[in-house]
Amino acid sequence: KKNVYFFGSGKAEGSTSMKNLLGGKGANLAEMTNLNIPVPPGFTISTKVCKIYSEKNHSYPEDVKKEIESNIVKLEKETNKKFGDPKDPLLVSVRSGAAISMPGMMDTVLNLGLNSTSVVALGQISGNPRFAWDSYRRFIQMFGDVVMGVSHSLFEDKLTSIKNFHNYDLDTELNVDDLKELVNLYKEVYKDNTGESFPEDPLVQLWAAIGAVFGSWNNERAVKYRTINKIDGLIGTAVNVQSMVFGNFGDDSGTGVCFSRDPATGDNYFYGEYLMNAQGEDVVAGIRTPQKLSTLESENPQLYKELLDVKQTLENHYKDMQDMEFTIERGKLFLLQTRNGKRTGQAAVKVAVDLVSEGLIDKETAIMRVTPDQLDQLLHPMIDPTTLNSLKAVATGLNASPGAACGEIVFTPEDAEAKALEGRNVLLVRRETSPEDIGGMNAAEGILTATGGMTSHAAVVARGMGKPCVAGCKAVEISGKAMKIGNNYFKEGDTITIDGSSGNVYSGKCILVYPKLTDQLEIFLKWSDEVRESATRDGVKKGFDVRANADLPEDAKRAREFGAVGIGLCRTEHMFFDEAKLEHFRRMIVADSLSERVEALETIKDLQISDFKGIFKVMDGLPVTIRLLDPPLHEFVPGDEFDSLAKMLHKDVSELKLRIESLKEQNPMLGHRGCRLGITYPEIYDMQIEAIIRGAIFCQREGIKVFPEIMIPLVGTVNELKILRERSEIIITRLFDELKDSVPYKIGTMIEIPRAALTADKIAEYADFFSFGTNDLTQMTFGYSRDDVGSFVPEYLSKKILQNDPFQVLDEEGVGQLVITAVNKGRSVKSDLKMSICGEHGGEAKSIDFVYRSGLNLVSCSPFRVPLARLAGAQSVI
Ligand code: ADP
Ligand code: MG
Ligand code: MG
Repeated sequence: KKNVYFFGSGKAEGSTSMKNLLGGKGANLAEMTNLNIPVPPGFTISTKVCKIYSEKNHSYPEDVKKEIESNIVKLEKETNKKFGDPKDPLLVSVRSGAAISMPGMMDTVLNLGLNSTSVVALGQISGNPRFAWDSYRRFIQMFGDVVMGVSHSLFEDKLTSIKNFHNYDLDTELNVDDLKELVNLYKEVYKDNTGESFPEDPLVQLWAAIGAVFGSWNNERAVKYRTINKIDGLIGTAVNVQSMVFGNFGDDSGTGVCFSRDPATGDNYFYGEYLMNAQGEDVVAGIRTPQKLSTLESENPQLYKELLDVKQTLENHYKDMQDMEFTIERGKLFLLQTRNGKRTGQAAVKVAVDLVSEGLIDKETAIMRVTPDQLDQLLHPMIDPTTLNSLKAVATGLNASPGAACGEIVFTPEDAEAKALEGRNVLLVRRETSPEDIGGMNAAEGILTATGGMTSHAAVVARGMGKPCVAGCKAVEISGKAMKIGNNYFKEGDTITIDGSSGNVYSGKCILVYPKLTDQLEIFLKWSDEVRESATRDGVKKGFDVRANADLPEDAKRAREFGAVGIGLCRTEHMFFDEAKLEHFRRMIVADSLSERVEALETIKDLQISDFKGIFKVMDGLPVTIRLLDPPLHEFVPGDEFDSLAKMLHKDVSELKLRIESLKEQNPMLGHRGCRLGITYPEIYDMQIEAIIRGAIFCQREGIKVFPEIMIPLVGTVNELKILRERSEIIITRLFDELKDSVPYKIGTMIEIPRAALTADKIAEYADFFSFGTNDLTQMTFGYSRDDVGSFVPEYLSKKILQNDPFQVLDEEGVGQLVITAVNKGRSVKSDLKMSICGEHGGEAKSIDFVYRSGLNLVSCSPFRVPLARLAGAQSVI
């Protein structure tokens, strides 16, 4: 029923818990008011009204109107001013704010309520006409831009022309007469572009502004931001109407933004920027270079202390790092916003770990505070530290968002998007970014801006996206599609490297490497491991492990460093892509007779034994799941160059061609591959089984603990598995006899063909474990060739036919049913059957959550995704 919520003089009708209704900004303004923090009074119109407004063709029901009107009266009482009073007008800001903060997505209008009469009165009453006229010209500009869609730059041009005419550097140099002239120019711009005079009636102004904020919910950039960030299910934005406080009153006034901890590193250090004699967005707009909070501390210690106290109160209250906006009016402090601060992955981990040791939150809360994506950021590339000494930066800006990126430079977001679509790595270079640039920023590897501070749009958005960003790099001079940095000239398409951790900009391409895990991260991930280890199913402790997909000893080593507790998928075919082995493998493939094939396999066997030894050694004490040969043989033979192959193999070229031709298939991924090869060319799997067992026994004799798990791919009927298992066991028994030794081993299968999932009870009888190969399972369930989805899936996504690319996020609704069926059927036969997932989905947070809920015991993913999976798994368990 209630649509409008008042806040003022220590009492608010809303609270933080009402974010969905009041938006983040409104809910926190209410909460701060209740905490007795100085907040200018106002009221919040709920998100429900936004929904009504959109549905009712941009109009309000009578009762909503009445409620707003009575809240205006309340606000007038509270401030002792009258809205529209020509002598002492109540001025307000009209601010947007949805439940999830979308920086800069929807616009704010300040100083609303001024007109040509009251501006004069305000000048007299305040004894500061300059301030009054400055407020008025800002209002006209913001109202024109936000409410009426008159381009910001048309106003800026007028400002610049007056400044140029008088030879001013700074806005603050404009005097009253200049500002009066500017107001006239602005009004002309307004009239020329809207066909109307600038509205004098404050109520007309207010309703127009409220409507504009509600309308902005569906503007292009807000919609784009929600799409990119996958923000779904919000009904709209709230509107906050709040009495103004003035940071542009004079040199004893100012405005600033601050973070209770450093948002880039997470260090517990009060971090912020402010500008005196400034209003609203001046700090982030990069108009003047803002000052550090440390300057405030030395210039106005009393005020600094007040701010410090507020910061501490807020952090203790919200138990999280806060991002705050404040304004100082004639020496008095006001808070205008607080929210849980956006931060880099590094800062997220550091803050979470610190808050636990400060006793503010527990470990589980800490684990939930870091998103899997943020963790992923931490493993983003950096410039190879060993090369740093030999590199010379062409310029240095602010280290706004960490990680290094290199790419071809582009100067417009449109170019960034277009080139990224062509598969190019691009770096977006801008004077400063604005919300319209979001698409281009998302497409770029990194962002470089010439102006703006640590809290500029570019910096905030890049940190949120986890993209490297160097901001405020003053040496960068852009003209058209070229730029100059000192004596270096760059044009579109030239390659540069930026280091968002140091702020350096380098010409050309630098060598990038992946960082090691920090101590902080180790602690954090250990907590995640503890949570996963304690996971239960049906009241029994089962754990939820993370293994890695690794084919070579180097990969296995990295996987272990990143915390994998085993290998969940070792693809033996990747071992054959090595030059030396490939030759013998080809000899085996094109063999005309069994004896010829067995001979080639003998050589390969020795090479495979040493491959497996290498992996077992690295994974000492941990299980290694080895998948027998999977891809179609045709993948291993050359497309041309038959002559040299024929020569090498001592074969006739035309015969060889025929043989290779005969391997070609119409649908190779549905063809002669996986266990079908094992059935038709049993000697291949025989060789691999022998190599695994010999390698394992060899290692065991060296004191290495081995746990080989043999995995048979592409099983669709139980008979395939039955035959191959029995055959393998004969070989294994023979080897154990021959070597007078044994190793523990398991034989399991992949569940990646829908039929296997549907008959998993039968299959389970011959399997010691299941591993869901969700890439193939998705491919076969949807009937999408995963190598060809590029031609239609993007359109499916934009038309919302699909919510996600099913090869990235596991399709719970369809493929998920097969997974759950297989889990239930498998466990109906063997209640403790171990199950894992080893497709790409094993490293994707949503999919991990699904497989945990489905009762799987572990996930396996690429080594770089292991830390992410360790965290995502823990979050599922919590
Ligand atoms: P955004 O969501 O883009 O941050 P805000 O609504 O927070 O937009 O407002 C933009 C700027 O205007 C901020 O710097 C904010 O502190 C300032 N501001 C908003 N309302 C007031 C007010 N009533 N008095 C003074 N400054 C205000
Ligand atoms: Mg704000
Ligand atoms: Mg497969």
